[in-house]
Amino acid sequence: MFYFEQINGNRILKSDLIKRAEAFFTTRDICICDKGTRVNEDEITRNKKLIADYLGIESQNLVFPTQTHSTNIAVASISQKDYPETDGLILTRPDLAIFLNFADCTPVILYDEKQNIGAVSHAGWRGTAGKIAGMTVEKMKNEFNSNPLDIVALIGPAIGFCCYDVGEEVFEKLSASVSDFSGLYEIREGKIFVDLKNINKRQLEEAGVGRIDVCSYCTVHNNDLFYSYRNENGTTLRHSAVLKLN
Ligand SMILES: [Zn+2]
Repeated sequence: MFYFEQINGNRILKSDLIKRAEAFFTTRDICICDKGTRVNEDEITRNKKLIADYLGIESQNLVFPTQTHSTNIAVASISQKDYPETDGLILTRPDLAIFLNFADCTPVILYDEKQNIGAVSHAGWRGTAGKIAGMTVEKMKNEFNSNPLDIVALIGPAIGFCCYDVGEEVFEKLSASVSDFSGLYEIREGKIFVDLKNINKRQLEEAGVGRIDVCSYCTVHNNDLFYSYRNENGTTLRHSAVLKLN
């Protein structure tokens, strides 16, 4: 179940499914990513410091990749600050925290309770079509011996089934990304709507992950809380999915 907590009066969204690690989604109250001009730079630096303090780490150890809607997955390392063309980041050490950035795309946080390792994936339609969430689970399995049964997953605020209409080509690609696409699309007034959050949920289930908390917030309907690329004419601001191990 999702609930809000505050960092100095700024709301963050958490789930009681992940208890042993710090995993949350930022809101508009505490933005730590602007992909555009540098007008918000001071505020972003301040907000990063607030989050780093809350997590008990140095700001410089709060790392994020350069997301390009790819299906490339990296492992966060203390000596590496740049992760080019990376849309999945695995975290295996408690002295670092990772975050990825979103405005409509689906954020997926994974946490292996047994091994105390985790990951964040960026699943827009391209990442979802490329099964990035499931691929991240596979990489955790292959490289760190994670058992999917030990993994819990959070699917965060994203453009909802209510609002996400796509063209035929995108629909075809998304429908091919799961073995059973029933219930994940709907035709309304001649438009095709898809349920991006639950497509990711089904991919995770197909990868063997059973415990998944799907957030009900739609970034368009709840644009007061989260950023929406579609609803805000390509905003450069992002909310973030943050993970730190204990
Ligand atoms: Zn909506």
